[in-house]
Amino acid sequence: DREAAVAQVQGLIRDIPDFPKPGIIFKDITPLLGDAEGFRLAVDLLADSIEGPTPEYIVGTESRGFIFGAALAYKLGAGFIPVRKPGKLPSEVHACEYQLEYGTDALEVHRDALHQGARTLIVDDLLATGGTARATGDLLRRLGAEMLGYSFVIELTFLAAREHMTDAPVHSLIQY
Ligand code: AMP
Repeated sequence: DREAAVAQVQGLIRDIPDFPKPGIIFKDITPLLGDAEGFRLAVDLLADSIEGPTPEYIVGTESRGFIFGAALAYKLGAGFIPVRKPGKLPSEVHACEYQLEYGTDALEVHRDALHQGARTLIVDDLLATGGTARATGDLLRRLGAEMLGYSFVIELTFLAAREHMTDAPVHSLIQY
């Protein structure tokens, strides 16, 4: 059943304390990715959680969003759109800056990545502060996409990111 599948996936996520800096508990998904059954379960659970219309595009954020996003796109028969760190995409881009704890970062997407009104779902491995996801949402709105929602494998609920993500439904498989 679903609960057992979620528990199996959760059991393959490992805590690495003080990475990449003191005080951060890094949720390491590499054991999940390396487990054939677990990885497939995680992608199947993401697919099953989609309500409403089927996405035409999955948008994945560099770099772990590429892994789950591409697999989900394949499963759903959707296209995949990469949202990347600055300077990686070769054609014309929209860019969105967002705040980090110290300083700013930016994300880019190709201007011609999708057509007006295309049904899109944003996917990433983990929702922390939500800065990455909100910047990705901003880019998609600038492209004229229809935002179906945000899907994450893991959500750090104590950071309350979803309170600031009111433009589309937010879904996560596992909450901490
Ligand atoms: P945020 O923009 O704060 O929501 O951070 C989300 C991005 O940072 C995701 O792409 C995650 O892969 C990564 N990230 C943030 N916090 C963690 C964490 N505790 N463990 C693993 N990855 C994290």
